[in-house]
Amino acid sequence: MALSPDLIRKYNRPVPRYTSYPSVPFWENNVTERDWDVLVRKAFDQFGKEEGISLYIHLPFCESLCTYCGCNKRITKNHQVETPYIQALLEEWQKYLAIFQSKPKISAIHLGGGTPTFFSPESLSFLISTILESADKNAKKVFSFEGHPNNTTYEHLATLAKLGFDRVSYGIQDFDLDVQKAIHRIQPFEKVKEATDNARNLGYSSVNFDLVYGLPHQTLATLSSTFDKVEELKPERIAFYSYAHLPSTFPAQKSYHNYLPDETEKRALYEFGKERLLELGYEEVGMDHFALPDDPLCLAKKTGELHRNFMGYTTLATKMLLGLGASSISDVWYGFAQNEKSVECYQREIDKDRIPIVKGHHLSEFDLGVRQVILNLICRGEAEVPFSIWDQLPASSLESIREMENEELLNSTGLHIQISEEGMGVVRNVCSLFDLRMLEKNETKTQFSKAI
Ligand code: SF4
Repeated sequence: MALSPDLIRKYNRPVPRYTSYPSVPFWENNVTERDWDVLVRKAFDQFGKEEGISLYIHLPFCESLCTYCGCNKRITKNHQVETPYIQALLEEWQKYLAIFQSKPKISAIHLGGGTPTFFSPESLSFLISTILESADKNAKKVFSFEGHPNNTTYEHLATLAKLGFDRVSYGIQDFDLDVQKAIHRIQPFEKVKEATDNARNLGYSSVNFDLVYGLPHQTLATLSSTFDKVEELKPERIAFYSYAHLPSTFPAQKSYHNYLPDETEKRALYEFGKERLLELGYEEVGMDHFALPDDPLCLAKKTGELHRNFMGYTTLATKMLLGLGASSISDVWYGFAQNEKSVECYQREIDKDRIPIVKGHHLSEFDLGVRQVILNLICRGEAEVPFSIWDQLPASSLESIREMENEELLNSTGLHIQISEEGMGVVRNVCSLFDLRMLEKNETKTQFSKAI
């Protein structure tokens, strides 16, 4: 059932996306480089050796700026940046190997950006094969990358397939030409089809399309024709994201400020898109994510094994995710750390023989409990809240839980919260009621995107 316009107005406010708890703006920044060594070592000994580790590698370069973009990227056409950057990534990896003191097992690699396919197939091959030479591969590994449909060549796909990659995610956003012009990302359907066909011909088991609703010039009619094209290519997974309009942080977004759908129109776009996806046979996996029924993401949801980390929803519940590269965030369960954001600072710190972290958070026992509640709500739509946490909730949260119950967005029985199907549309708001780090500061940060 769709959310009513009144509920949309009420709940459409800035809230974290809960890819971590605490969210980055509420980190205490209580992690020194020495502490980070200790946390990484502890996580490696406790989980990493057994489960394997996940690696997120940030490749920040793009040849041209998409005006809607909120990623950490560097726009350049100079491909000489590839070699020194890859060198820095490998040096960072060496530093982690030194902390582990034994050969790690890699369960997942995800190349994100920026545009990973800005890098030549040779550069990517050198990077990945060097990392893999120093590690074992988990039998159930998941290797994936983000590809720009305009520059993901057959060679990129073939090179990465040889290294074990079998999942690719293409940033589509919208197939409509007026929308593409406004966001400065022209990519013809034929290019997307070619990139998708190439992946399938090379044996990739999963293609994901990222689509966005709430973009300038988007209407129900343009979105309908976008979904006709999606139907033609039928990717295994679809992420259907809400466009985040934050022009004070990303000034290029000002260029189309007057052409954005309003809140109600934006929600109608989402409801329309969701309906189409369900008609096409996709199942809703979690906030923003849809997949075909036999995709591992759907199966993980059914078996309760869905996990969420800085990369979004995942089937791999590894408790150790290391982020390599400028701005990457690592999550070693007991702590988070983020690397220097600018490419130059990142490379400079590596040259000084440092792990280039600039901020972090060491989770307390209490944080770990709240984190599990939020993970359960956002991955499974329900949670048993320990009394020690419930007892700390401010009156405003208890009042909001009662209101949401009256609005049929959730059910609260004792210490158990069950979110309704409709309530999953505002799951971030539900999570925020338990976000004690944010609540104790009594502030919401405007840099968060709005919930709807
Ligand atoms: S290619 Fe991706 S990361 Fe680069 S500017 Fe466009 S949206 Fe942003």
